[in-house]
Amino acid sequence: MTRLTYPNYSNHCGWNAMLPKRRPRPALSRDTTVDFAVIGAGYTGLAIARRLHELNPDARIAIVEATTIGEGSSARNSGFTSAHVLPRTASMEMAEKARIQSAFFSEAFEQLKRIIRDNNIDCDLHQVGSIRAAATEAGEASLRRVVEVAVANQIPHTVLGREDISRRIGSPYYRFGIHIQDTWLLQPAALIRGLADALPASIEFYEETPVKRLRREDGWLLETSGGVLRCKSLALANNGFIPKFGYLKSRMATIYTYAAVTEAIGDDRLGEIGEAESWGLLPPHRLGTTLRRIGRNRVMVRSLYSLESEIEEKRATRELRRRFERRWPKLSDVQFEYLWGGTTAFTMNGSPWWGKLDQGLYASGGCNGSGITKGTMLGGHLAELMLGKGDHDRMMKSMGGASWIAPEPLRSIGFQIVSALESRKAGLEM
Ligand SMILES: Cc1cc2nc3c(=O)[nH]c(=O)nc-3n(C[C@H](O)[C@H](O)[C@H](O)COP(=O)(O)OP(=O)(O)OC[C@H]3O[C@@H](n4cnc5c(N)ncnc54)[C@H](O)[C@@H]3O)c2cc1C
Repeated sequence: MTRLTYPNYSNHCGWNAMLPKRRPRPALSRDTTVDFAVIGAGYTGLAIARRLHELNPDARIAIVEATTIGEGSSARNSGFTSAHVLPRTASMEMAEKARIQSAFFSEAFEQLKRIIRDNNIDCDLHQVGSIRAAATEAGEASLRRVVEVAVANQIPHTVLGREDISRRIGSPYYRFGIHIQDTWLLQPAALIRGLADALPASIEFYEETPVKRLRREDGWLLETSGGVLRCKSLALANNGFIPKFGYLKSRMATIYTYAAVTEAIGDDRLGEIGEAESWGLLPPHRLGTTLRRIGRNRVMVRSLYSLESEIEEKRATRELRRRFERRWPKLSDVQFEYLWGGTTAFTMNGSPWWGKLDQGLYASGGCNGSGITKGTMLGGHLAELMLGKGDHDRMMKSMGGASWIAPEPLRSIGFQIVSALESRKAGLEM
């Protein structure tokens, strides 16, 4: 089990590798004192810093990031986002909660779109919608409940049969689906790079600066190899790595999930991946496989989970290939050009942990698999909480709070058992 307080991935992020090289900002190289510090430059951390600056432009604010922008989970994800909430395991009881959450998500998503537009961030944001598709009878039953919630919450959608899905993605693998119009796809590494570049110049930003230890004295001390950063108020936005500082250990676990992107598929075979030039597909089961057609001629496959550490590349490749070939047997000679793992902060009930941990210490984590808009929303609210502003009760009531997770060794044993049982349930959705 890793004892690092920060991620140390074995592979580079494929989305980042597809972009031109960028020069990271310098690491922290001397002792420094600021008013506010933020650990982690993902969607959450950047939203915290932006909002702190907006509300308190004279404050000295610093962000410290262990890796470089474009190599964290905010770049390693599948790039689906939306302004509404439509849970995977929807029930009518959840519809009302989802409606309230959607109001907060909408606000955050509008803010993201505004920053993208105002700063000409070229992140390929496009509203192509998402296909939620089921390959199994159980998956179809679950999606039919999602349709009921979509109807109740007036979320525009179209119900799809096997042939409709097959036409769109080129594979007859799925038996039932829904196309949700209000889903946007994007290039996540380009977005997080753009958001970092769009930060006000007065925000200090240190890349390749892993925080190794936290200490409380008069305020908070962040120990790094280049120096100590002191602050009065600190936000933990390091997501899956918050527990590595000893906080929220019984609320969140670091889970790795994996993605691969194929090499470019020849023009003469593009018909095999459907009529639509861009599409994104989400599974009905949480262990299921996410798929995207990207850059017109490549397919991205995201699936597979591990607890606390990355699995071997060989195994990840084998498992992801199996999922790809099951759907497109005629493309079994197409190789993966990129493969990478990324972390998420997993919470048992899917709710985030958000709030004050201690005097001058705040945290927001546990976006699970949907942090682009959620992290932006929670980060903005956390900055307000740090400044004693705003009323966040309605937002937090609708989001709920992360429930208890068993400690080790029960956690690992539980993970193995639940993974085995859920994998059987997920079956061909994987
Ligand atoms: C493969 C994959 C697919 C996903 N697909 C989607 C999707 O389609 N849509 C979606 O919305 N979400 C998706 N997610 C989830 C999404 O990426 C996360 O919810 C999101 O990144 C959370 O943002 P964050 O800012 O809270 O945390 P992160 O993005 O994890 O940012 C935390 C940052 O903290 C840094 N850090 C950690 N420890 C330290 C330390 N000690 N010192 C300094 N810095 C530190 C990390 O390097 C990291 O950059 C996916 C995730 C993965 C892994």
